[in-house]
Amino acid sequence: MKLIAILFSAFLAVPAFAQQTFIQCGRLIDGKLSSVQTEVTIVVESNKIIDVRKGYQSGAANDKLINLRNQTVMPGFIDSHVHLSGETSKNQYMEEFTLNDDDYALKAVKFSERTLMAGFTTVRDLGGFVAVSLRNAINGGDIKGPRILAAGKSIATTGGHADPSNGYSRALIGDPEAKDGVVNSPEEARKAVRQRYKEGSDVIKITATGGVLSNAKDGAGAQFTEDEIKAVVSTAKDYGYRVAAHAHGAEGMKRAIRAGVSSIEHGTFMDDEVIALMKEKGTYYVPTITAGKSVADSAKIPGYYPPLVVPKAIATGPKIQSTFAKAYKAGVKIAFGTDAGVFAHGKNYKEFEYMVEAGMPAMEAIKSATMNAADLLGISALIGSIERGKSADIIAVNGDPLKDIKVLSSMNFVMKEGVVYKQ
Ligand SMILES: [Zn+2]
Repeated sequence: MKLIAILFSAFLAVPAFAQQTFIQCGRLIDGKLSSVQTEVTIVVESNKIIDVRKGYQSGAANDKLINLRNQTVMPGFIDSHVHLSGETSKNQYMEEFTLNDDDYALKAVKFSERTLMAGFTTVRDLGGFVAVSLRNAINGGDIKGPRILAAGKSIATTGGHADPSNGYSRALIGDPEAKDGVVNSPEEARKAVRQRYKEGSDVIKITATGGVLSNAKDGAGAQFTEDEIKAVVSTAKDYGYRVAAHAHGAEGMKRAIRAGVSSIEHGTFMDDEVIALMKEKGTYYVPTITAGKSVADSAKIPGYYPPLVVPKAIATGPKIQSTFAKAYKAGVKIAFGTDAGVFAHGKNYKEFEYMVEAGMPAMEAIKSATMNAADLLGISALIGSIERGKSADIIAVNGDPLKDIKVLSSMNFVMKEGVVYKQ
């Protein structure tokens, strides 16, 4: 009896049974199965899913119950391509002169919260000023936002897409080099990857071809040699990093795929050879249809973009949706990604509508933003499905997204790592 009393008092500080949360789901799309389950209960303890049970169940008196019986429950969505430090505006090209990292950071707080509330519990930030600090602040519980895999500064070549000095006075911006993410040889490419490692990045982004929004003429031509990309990929591997390649033109895509990047972002002018190479190498395609449509719309507003950008936006933007349709039909692996920041944060759901419009079944579109994206990010053991042992990243909407994909525009419930952010 005495021994029991001693043991009991020793354990008083910790409750004998941790509180569990029972989430009763009317419909469950678990991210893995292709069918919908009905009347299911997800059991969450701390930050993990500990069980998924048939029927509506509830726990003991001190457990919590969340009733989502009239909703469709899904794994938290993953956007594989965002830029949380900024958002499109007519002034965005002046911001380089007027804003400091502190300003970007404060804006990013708002964009992060908006993204999380839209049901995106994980994002890959592919180039931005403050993503590493933002990730740390979110992980530390200081601000609300999605789990972030941060690229930090995109790696570009001189004059290429993501050379931050394009179009500006040399006296003001100078000539950036490898540590600033601008490289011109395999050696410099290695230095740039190592610099990202030093700064705390999780993933490497390169701009394999020209891009739409850079203040430069070329929007699609190759801008890296294959040797430079190989140097990026092999150095990235040393640090456990995957490489995402921004690319609009086919030649740049081919070099990047052959060099071993994990994903092609945008992929606008993809040809049959690119599609065959991607299938052969298992390279993911991250379409960003929403960004394409959005830049084409903004280009029609006089003065919204600099003169060099307008024709690129008009030629490139509207093409992505048909490229996506072709790639999907051909069997290229698709991971959901929007390029949010190029359009308003929190509207990432638009991509689902465009994917379905282009011929992808709604279930496949949802999987592209759950299991597939988790696979691309290399964290499918942690997220991407509602299964025992995975992070409790759980979202829900009214209605049935398989019947009407537009219901994903209004998120009713958001849980990330077991914490409810929206209910
Ligand atoms: Zn982007």
